[in-house]
Amino acid sequence: MYIDPHVHMVSRTTDDYRRMALAGCVAITEPAFWAGFDRGSPEGFRDYFHQLTEVEPRRAAQYGIRHHTWLCINPKEAEDPGFAREVISLIPQFLERPTVLGIGEIGLNKNSRNELVILEEHIALAMRLKQLILVHTPHLEDKLKGTRMILDALKNQGADPGRVLIDHVEEHTVRLVLDGGYWAGMTLYPDTKCTPARATDIIECHGSDRLWLNSAGDWGHSDPLAVPKAQAEMRRRRHAESLIRKVTFDNPLAFLSQSGRFSAEPSVPTAPDLPR
Ligand SMILES: [Zn+2]
Repeated sequence: MYIDPHVHMVSRTTDDYRRMALAGCVAITEPAFWAGFDRGSPEGFRDYFHQLTEVEPRRAAQYGIRHHTWLCINPKEAEDPGFAREVISLIPQFLERPTVLGIGEIGLNKNSRNELVILEEHIALAMRLKQLILVHTPHLEDKLKGTRMILDALKNQGADPGRVLIDHVEEHTVRLVLDGGYWAGMTLYPDTKCTPARATDIIECHGSDRLWLNSAGDWGHSDPLAVPKAQAEMRRRRHAESLIRKVTFDNPLAFLSQSGRFSAEPSVPTAPDLPR
């Protein structure tokens, strides 16, 4: 059994759900992010939040997978603060829905001034409404600088590090995140960024506490089976099953359960209620 705590299923096919279920996936969480195109209006985000909170959980349930989500306006579309604030104003009404875990994936993309302002407003919203936070760190060469800016913003607002996960960590940012008391996510891509082999190296160097693995399967070149492939890599290196289970099941369960809404209980697939 495993949990994929960061995967963009709106971009994936039903075949991907089927293959993930066969590989042992019992629960996933899907942060709100860029959908491969910029939305033309804040209403586009209302439709997206509807998809994340109503449509995708039903689609996942057909394969026995529990689907949860996080809401925000992602940093890639947050360059216009007026637009971003209109989207943020839609979020509270959706936070009441039963599969919503918190605010995410917020963060920085190009480390711009406007992105930072909107990041700070999301953190304030999460703290006011007592929500967990999931953070995207930039994939560009500015990852280290962006990670530092994000940790400063969280600290300045007094966020509890135990309720924040900093995602897409790599070799040069993982220590900073863990030493600050935060949780850290390693995002596995087929050949760029963090591969299953590099993630295993990082666990060997930095331990397994407060660390999780995810596939980030999305609209680009990515692999929704990356987490079981990392499990296979750890097995190949003769790591204990308890360690493999810790980073792919126990750790995500511990962090996500703080929301009170997360479940990894095996579910019986429901009858299809969507057009096929
Ligand atoms: Zn993502």
